[in-house]
Amino acid sequence: MAYAAFDLTGRRALVTGATRGIGRAIAEALGAAGATVLVNGRNPAGVDLTVAALRALGIAAEPLAFDVTDAAAAEAAIAGAGRIDILVNNAGIQHRAPAVEFPDDAWDAIIDSHLTSVFRLIKRVAPQMLARRSGKIINLGSLLSELGRANIPAYGAAKGGVRMLTRCLATEFAPHNVQVNAIGPGYVRTEMNTALIENTGFNAWVCARTPAGRWAEPEEIAGAAVFLASDAASYVTGQILYVDGGVTASL
Ligand code: NAD
Repeated sequence: MAYAAFDLTGRRALVTGATRGIGRAIAEALGAAGATVLVNGRNPAGVDLTVAALRALGIAAEPLAFDVTDAAAAEAAIAGAGRIDILVNNAGIQHRAPAVEFPDDAWDAIIDSHLTSVFRLIKRVAPQMLARRSGKIINLGSLLSELGRANIPAYGAAKGGVRMLTRCLATEFAPHNVQVNAIGPGYVRTEMNTALIENTGFNAWVCARTPAGRWAEPEEIAGAAVFLASDAASYVTGQILYVDGGVTASL
């Protein structure tokens, strides 16, 4: 017998940046749990490919291509998207450089994609959730929501911001039965990290620093999203669920 509280049948879930990596894994997991998945990405052809791949797995999927940093495009897409019960803010980019050399435009682009766009998208999707007194918002945090690291000042500032945005909105929306939570993945084997995975020294450091002794696969992050999107998490709000192989538990 399946545990009914995890069943997402009838729910519509928008996942940003869902064409690869963690977003793709979350889209597949939400779909496998019964949700219809609205697949977002910047490139319409890539979004269509992902929709076709999900449909081939028996998942109900619809394309919703737009750039999350383009406020007008996001607003138009949301206006035409119909009901959204679950919003997963996953899209984002990375840039690594020493703080004193960090390009101003890279700072702006990272804060925009990981933080400002998250707020703007929530602002556009939340009204229908609040009116229905039902909805789930899941933001992608990071170890950098909690812990510092050299050469990624903008990413750390954005992900720390995601942690507090999650708590502020959870507080504001809780009386309306809309839950806002975040997932904080550890080091995950995705294209965002290709250079780090191929760097022997960094790879060894990740495996030594992570009590689990290895990188995560994207699929290992997705179960947390299913839980937070489900009725099983109806009294869970304002939390960051670290899925990190023990990193934040250890010195
Ligand atoms: P990824 O680079 O593999 O995938 C990110 C996706 O977002 C890509 O499909 C990309 O095209 C899309 N995207 C980027 N900017 C966009 C925009 N403006 N509009 C629409 N789509 C856009 O990255 P990932 O590793 O899968 O990371 C996904 C999320 O998880 C990010 O928020 C990241 O910060 C977070 N995260 C990743 C790790 C990790 O180790 N990989 C760890 C902690 C947190």
